[in-house]
Amino acid sequence: AAGLALTLSACGSSQKTADQTAAPGAGAEGSLVGVTMPTKSSERWIHDGDNIKAALEKLGYKVDLQYAENDIPTQVNQIENQITKGAKLLVIASIDGTAITTQLQEAADKKIPVIAYDRLIRNSPNVDYYATFDNFKVGVEQANSLVKGLGTGAGPFNVELFAGSPDDNNATFFFNGAMSVLKPLMDSGKLVVKSGQTDFARAAILRWDPATAQRRMEDLLTKTYTGGAKVQGVLSPYDGLSIGILSALKSNGYGTAGQPYPVVTGQDAEVASVKSIIAGEQYSTIFKDTRKLADTTVKMADAVLKGGKPEVNNTKDYDNGKKVVPSYLLQPVTVDKANYEKELVESGYYTAGQLK
Ligand code: BGC
Repeated sequence: AAGLALTLSACGSSQKTADQTAAPGAGAEGSLVGVTMPTKSSERWIHDGDNIKAALEKLGYKVDLQYAENDIPTQVNQIENQITKGAKLLVIASIDGTAITTQLQEAADKKIPVIAYDRLIRNSPNVDYYATFDNFKVGVEQANSLVKGLGTGAGPFNVELFAGSPDDNNATFFFNGAMSVLKPLMDSGKLVVKSGQTDFARAAILRWDPATAQRRMEDLLTKTYTGGAKVQGVLSPYDGLSIGILSALKSNGYGTAGQPYPVVTGQDAEVASVKSIIAGEQYSTIFKDTRKLADTTVKMADAVLKGGKPEVNNTKDYDNGKKVVPSYLLQPVTVDKANYEKELVESGYYTAGQLK
């Protein structure tokens, strides 16, 4: 416990942490843990929630698991309710990483530790730990896969860029990671963003909404790709957006023998997108094994609840505006037609039948 206080004192919250580590301990078993997830509209969060709940229950904790359908006030209420119900720890995958500061202050006042799950919670000193994947690397891998899919030709290749929700800290990390690979190729002229929309703000899709991505792709195609010009690659940061993007492409004549789809990336290895990859439509996705993330988070939660010090492997990259949050980063894996069986089926993440 002393170690925990020491580590965190560097982040300016030694007082709170010292108290916190004194409080739990032996009586941790049976404690209520509040878990809030953004939405059920994307499969990954369903897996995340189920996995965390099962693992915590196995350790003897009670779990209150809530989904907010991407509605910020709903998530705020859920967190407030969990505090009222006496939760001893909160695991939060936030919708807007800046919108729950008040609730986190309440939690801190009651010595309830908080673990940010997958998405960093911003602008609050009251975030104790962060469990996630290496988000910058996700973007790097998306861009590497895009470039690989374009092939070995000299180009120039026409590409368009999409980014995630501006209120999700991950979206910037993904985009910056991708741009670390793509920008030099844009500068050298190998890649051309014909729309000129190369900045995060214009590429971003609020709340990761597939229909918004579809509309933006329609717009890009009708306004920019006129007179025979074709788009050859699309950086998409999430499978749901990729589906919208592919629909827009399809209704504009792509996806035929004469006019194949451009290389479209993704993220999360959601079933519909893996099927699309197998069918030769979407090019790739980034697989983030939610079983591992849940496992890491539950180990963290258990250690904190027992007054110990969870393992972290990054104490520099995730500054939330108030503190650098000690983090555990997992490694993402690029999945395409060549390795989906090994990564997704052989690993037991999906059955072969689910992908038929
Ligand atoms: C997650 C991604 C997911 C996106 C949309 C991000 O915060 O890290 O895995 O694709 O949200 O749900």
